[in-house]
Amino acid sequence: MPRRHALTRLTHVRPGSQELQTIADAFSGARKIVTIAGAGISTAAGIPDFRSSGGLYANGALFEEAAFFDSRRPLLFQTALHVRDLAAACQPTETHRWLASLRPKLLRCYTQNVDMLEAKAGLATGLGRRFDCIPLHGSLANLKCHLCHEAYEWEDYRRDIQDCNIDSNIEDDKSEDDEEESTLPCPRCNGRYEARKEAGMRLLPIGQLRPSMVMLDETHPHGEEIAHLARGDGLASPDLLLVLGTSLKVDGPKSLFRQFARRIRGQGGKIVYVNRTKPPSDCSALVDYWVQWDVDEWVRDLKGRQDQSGTGMRRGSARRASRRDRILPPKTHTLPAFGNIGAPQEPLGSRGNPIPLD
Ligand SMILES: [Zn+2]
Repeated sequence: MPRRHALTRLTHVRPGSQELQTIADAFSGARKIVTIAGAGISTAAGIPDFRSSGGLYANGALFEEAAFFDSRRPLLFQTALHVRDLAAACQPTETHRWLASLRPKLLRCYTQNVDMLEAKAGLATGLGRRFDCIPLHGSLANLKCHLCHEAYEWEDYRRDIQDCNIDSNIEDDKSEDDEEESTLPCPRCNGRYEARKEAGMRLLPIGQLRPSMVMLDETHPHGEEIAHLARGDGLASPDLLLVLGTSLKVDGPKSLFRQFARRIRGQGGKIVYVNRTKPPSDCSALVDYWVQWDVDEWVRDLKGRQDQSGTGMRRGSARRASRRDRILPPKTHTLPAFGNIGAPQEPLGSRGNPIPLD
């Protein structure tokens, strides 16, 4: 049944609107903040997004699972390497740095971005409760084996990728020699294959390397773990949800948004959506404020208001929230700017929630 009353709750906020102060007050009073971030927080750093006219989908869908198995395969690897190189050279934006400054008030940042700029800004990034930032779509930090999940360095395969020494169809029947030359077989799987062959044992398949990001339309290998983590964060009673630089058009992040928004609103908290485009129609009823502005500009405005009022974070309440609800990662768990997020994780099996690219 339509909730007509809820549709009237969204307030459209533009630069200069007085509601910006209302939002700043809600931010200052919040004790636990959850954020869902998208490509809009990284474009100012020089990372292309996926949906705008100059974005990575401008020449047709590329980051989908089928591209591994057809003629788009070389282009997929080359584009992923190009974006990875861009990200490695980029610096975090105003928004990334601000997010890192929110700890321990920041209960969790869920990011759809694969550039790892959150980690470069100082947020402990990975899968698990001890991390500040959860990469919903993996990252471009490494290549990984699609079977055994072992991680590998891009640099070791740069020449093959740039020279297009990647077959366009790895499912075709081909000789063993062809396969060694034209695909990216996993060395670990290959070693196991050779050992079993030597021992006369039943042979197991050899995995292929791929970027360590989750493709559009692909089942997330850690979807169940992320869903479990989000449920736990919801039970920690966050009181502010910030949605930053994402259009929420993809089912996985949208589902995550709805889950948090319902819970936070049910407990009297606020939902703030900062993006140039309006929230999707099936999410707008759960948004209190739509700030139609560049995310970095909004962050600067918010910081300016806090400097003027001298409030900033309510440090006492944040510290209390930290002691009770958070286990901050020890230094050794903070990943480097382009660290490996995949290697330590145990695969959760084949059934996971689809959380594809935004
Ligand atoms: Zn492998």
